[in-house]
Amino acid sequence: MANLVAIVGRPNVGKSTLFNRLTQSRRAIVSETAGTTRDRQYGKCTWNAKEFSVVDTGGWVVNSDDIFEDAIRRQVIVATQEADLVLFLVDVTTGVTDWDEDVATILRRAKLPTILVANKVDNSSAYYEAAEFYKLGLGEPRCISAATGGGTGDLLDTLVDMLPQENPEIIEEEIPRFAVVGRPNAGKSSIINAFIGEDRNIVTEIAGTTRDSIYTRFGKFGFDFYLVDTAGIRRKNKVTEDLEFYSVMRSIRAIENSDVCLLMLDATRGIEAQDMNIFQLIQKNNKSLVVVVNKWDLVEDKSQKVINTFEAAIRSRMAPFVDFPIIFASALTKQRIFRVLETAKQVYLNRKARVGTAKLNEVMLPIIEAFPPPSIKGKYIKIKYCTQLPNTQIPSFVFYANLPQYVKENYRRFLENKIRENWSMHGCPINIFIRQK
Ligand code: GDP
Ligand code: GDP
Repeated sequence: MANLVAIVGRPNVGKSTLFNRLTQSRRAIVSETAGTTRDRQYGKCTWNAKEFSVVDTGGWVVNSDDIFEDAIRRQVIVATQEADLVLFLVDVTTGVTDWDEDVATILRRAKLPTILVANKVDNSSAYYEAAEFYKLGLGEPRCISAATGGGTGDLLDTLVDMLPQENPEIIEEEIPRFAVVGRPNAGKSSIINAFIGEDRNIVTEIAGTTRDSIYTRFGKFGFDFYLVDTAGIRRKNKVTEDLEFYSVMRSIRAIENSDVCLLMLDATRGIEAQDMNIFQLIQKNNKSLVVVVNKWDLVEDKSQKVINTFEAAIRSRMAPFVDFPIIFASALTKQRIFRVLETAKQVYLNRKARVGTAKLNEVMLPIIEAFPPPSIKGKYIKIKYCTQLPNTQIPSFVFYANLPQYVKENYRRFLENKIRENWSMHGCPINIFIRQK
């Protein structure tokens, strides 16, 4: 399970600048894939062959009726509970503030790996000024300039050395892992209780390693799967549970460790920015998706028209990825709970599907011949052959072309749609690569 690093600090100390620097190269690769959205909130970083996730606490809005500093302080508390390591960023141009001292106290008590980072050390005189931060009691500050990148290599060396050892839990790889995610009060705990019911024998807790176990095995009614991070869902934290940042930090672990995500929406609220943020976490991690519109019992008009409007609204928000199931359910009355599990299982099977090369070419080549990529600068683009790559995380198809650089995004999407029309990839992101033949 990947480690999670949180960047905390006052507004304007340079958190997002550092975040961009840490996640840049990776994001450049990610943004090649259709539909991935760039943002400053969550990304991945690889250094010395170690991969970890990074969140920028400043990327999450706090409720407008919260007292700002208090809300940020609570984000720091969430970070200390949910992250594996904290980067505490301070600003050498402003020196130590009261708020810095406050946060330093929280971090010292939390006893988790913390690195004090003095930012905006753009020159050697600033380097001497940074010594002032020593009094925060978090050791010697690491000096960096997030803007120029100075010192960030040394910082990353230290960081990856301090990350806790990854102790993968012993789980069976062939068994699907489902994560139930969604914003606070969407009904995540309720639906898990509906799955599990009173009969505790159908779940087995897997012994945890570094922190509380994140997998619960479910086996009954012909199902066999892991529920990811149910412990976190069941045990609520009163101080911080209303914070969006809290639900996001919990979601990250669950999503990263799953195959299929059940995204819970609240039928009485529709789809909002918080839901989209979680959807983007799912997309960035290439996970499969089942949308559950929960609390359907509270909706009076359940006519087909209302259902269609609901579905269209959800898909238009998530476009261009639209090929996923939407189930209207109620965790309370247990309406369609079984269907949710069946669908998640089917989506998992779609994710693992293999299309034979002969069949793929038999179907796709005539389509390509009838609708070839448009010629560019008088050059004809020919696609002669395609195949599905073996052993990939998500279904990935390669099309071999004479001039791959001229095949545009919309043609790639056309190929994706044709694959989806012919084989069920429902709920799954897929990759389309165009390569030199
Ligand atoms: P955040 O609010 O903590 O996310 O801070 P930002 O990353 O948005 O940075 C706030 C301001 O500080 C911006 O104007 C940045 O350009 C600037 N800044 C960030 N890092 C550095 C640095 O290393 N040196 C200098 N001189 N300015 C920086
Ligand atoms: P979580 O924060 O996502 O885990 O949400 P909970 O499972 O704790 O549910 C939040 C509230 O919504 C609780 O009061 C539940 O009883 C209620 N709730 C959950 N699912 C349903 C549902 O399908 N129908 C109705 N009417 N209420 C529900």
